[in-house]
Amino acid sequence: MSKSKEIIAKDKQYYATSGRIPYYPLVIDHAKGAQIIDADGKKYIDLLASASALNVGHAPDRVVAAIKEQTDKMIHYTPAYMYHQPVADLAEKLAEISPGNFTKKVAFGLSGSDANDAIIKFARAYTGRQNIVSFEQAYHGSTFGSLSMSAISLGMRQKIGPLLPGIYHIPYPDAYRGLYGETEPRSAEGYLQVFKSMTENYLPKEEIAAVVVETIQGDGGLLEPVPGYFRALADFCHANGILFAVDDVQQGLGRTGTWSSIEHFDVEADLIIYGKSLAGGLPLSAVVGRAEIMDGLQIPGHVFTTAANPVCCQAALATIQTIEEDNLLQASTDKGAYAKKAFTDLVNKYDFIGDVRGIGLSIGVDIVSDRQSKSKDSQAALKICNRAYEKGLLMIAVAGSVLRFQPPLVISYEELDQTFTILDEVFTELAN
Ligand code: PMP
Repeated sequence: MSKSKEIIAKDKQYYATSGRIPYYPLVIDHAKGAQIIDADGKKYIDLLASASALNVGHAPDRVVAAIKEQTDKMIHYTPAYMYHQPVADLAEKLAEISPGNFTKKVAFGLSGSDANDAIIKFARAYTGRQNIVSFEQAYHGSTFGSLSMSAISLGMRQKIGPLLPGIYHIPYPDAYRGLYGETEPRSAEGYLQVFKSMTENYLPKEEIAAVVVETIQGDGGLLEPVPGYFRALADFCHANGILFAVDDVQQGLGRTGTWSSIEHFDVEADLIIYGKSLAGGLPLSAVVGRAEIMDGLQIPGHVFTTAANPVCCQAALATIQTIEEDNLLQASTDKGAYAKKAFTDLVNKYDFIGDVRGIGLSIGVDIVSDRQSKSKDSQAALKICNRAYEKGLLMIAVAGSVLRFQPPLVISYEELDQTFTILDEVFTELAN
């Protein structure tokens, strides 16, 4: 039996099934940059970056050094009772790099999920209102609050209800397909109308605390919004005392070429949350928001014993330093444009590619059975991923038919070229 098979057999015996979305029988042994080596020595190019949790790549030098140094000094003391410098430095840094021309404060957690729960708490406490609006097909996480805001999977929700009350879902303003089987997207106002009519019929707007958005809807299929939608939505929110909150757990910290993905949309968010890549892969999340909102929760309204761990905070500071010093925001923009051009060249060769979309290195490639109807071809997308995997590319499909292209921002142009050579081969096989 290969080493990988042995490890997987043991894992299947002891690891609870609910914690895995089965994909490849890949046992990762070690990794650097955008390269992964499995337990049997086979190499892969990582186009998934651990679900966008490794924007600065695998084992980045500055992050590894910062972790080692901090581990020798002090592994942890809970910030609930005492102070330490790494968390003060990180809070200051996050307030500085996050967009928004106002005084900010920061709260910390351990995962994207708890940061989403935090949005619900901070927004309810500050506004004195109960209801939260999020989007259909959103993925916000696995805790009860974040799960209640998610609307993407039956399996996530079955058998565990009741979920949190006061959560409503509106359609994401998909720029490729329209609503519920419509092939053409609606206008920004057309999408917004669905929300507005909810507020006119059964959801009083003066009882809504916050609207929570993923700018590019990640797990929902790397969907891009129609132009002007978020601006119009934020205007509507602010005219009605509703907070505008951004879940930047997947799209933040350079994934789209900016610190926060909301910077592409000419909107000021009241709250932004980060997770995943924040500490280079260690568990850390942050809520950055207007100071008055962040101080609106009673003590001890948002405390986790191991949050803001100094090792994770140092890893986060080194991650941000790496993005700054290695110009990774620009790299995301440039390599994103390079990859988009390469995919667009493939569109001209293969008519099963329905759409190539995204910003920076957050790209979705929608595989369709025909371009007219835009019908999703999930089977073809799965075949592409499986064949690419056999040839050394690590990529998955989301929302059934959408190839998720989110490599570490440090991927080299050589690795990108290798990727597109392999994808061209895989697409040719599928076409024949
Ligand atoms: N928000 C978004 C947009 C995400 O993509 C995810 C993870 N896929 C989460 C929140 C949840 O993060 P975590 O798994 O770290 O709890």
